[in-house]
Amino acid sequence: MMHTEDRLPVIFSGHGSPMNAIGRNRANEGWKYIGSKLGKPPVIIAVSAHWTTHGTAVRTAENNRQINDMYGFPKELYDVHYEPKGSPEYAARVLELLGEDGHEDNSWGIDHGVWSILSNMYPDADVPVVMVSTDVDASPEKLFEIGKKLKALRNEGAMIIASGNVVHNLRMVDWDNENGAPWADAFDQAIIDAVKVRDNDTVIGYEKLDNARLAVPTAEHYAPLLVALGATVPEDRAAVWNEYRELGSMSMTSFLWG
Ligand code: ZN
Repeated sequence: MMHTEDRLPVIFSGHGSPMNAIGRNRANEGWKYIGSKLGKPPVIIAVSAHWTTHGTAVRTAENNRQINDMYGFPKELYDVHYEPKGSPEYAARVLELLGEDGHEDNSWGIDHGVWSILSNMYPDADVPVVMVSTDVDASPEKLFEIGKKLKALRNEGAMIIASGNVVHNLRMVDWDNENGAPWADAFDQAIIDAVKVRDNDTVIGYEKLDNARLAVPTAEHYAPLLVALGATVPEDRAAVWNEYRELGSMSMTSFLWG
């Protein structure tokens, strides 16, 4: 395992509709830009909102199977093939750092929440990816603690990329709205403001914010943000990108700390 003084960035990225993976749109232009700016890390630790488990699961296999966990989309979307290698070595290190909070699980693979982003950031699929699940039983504080445990990986050649959405309410989707509903804008902005000034307590305590129940009706898409935040250090500067809402109830807002 390499150790370096250079700390790799942590990313939280909104993913939204699987269709963001293909064609030309704001989301994938942001992903392409960020990927080209950052260059390729030796390995990616990917925390996915779409792999929900009890406890934190880690894929340890040599390879990553692509999971098309979406239904009824056009054929072009299913033509996306993205299967980078895994890394048993880094997966073992993730499990070591997680201790009693982590367990091995090779039943899942690279789901659309991760391949939609990475197929645009690193289209050659030549960066190994270790998949990490979202623990649906964990409190916001616990998710932050899990991120803290993963922090050391940033000095060991790993870029942590957590994929979810700050605002994600499928029941409130409005296909005619290219932007956000006022409540979605307001909640997203409150989180952006807190992240920018490194006010972790507000991000962790999001349930106390106005519109929290509408913005985060279930926690799994918000959870990766808390894991990413936990992996930050006080010296990190927070940058915001893909800062917009769509379909009324979906925020694509993404953060990069480094
Ligand atoms: Zn999703």
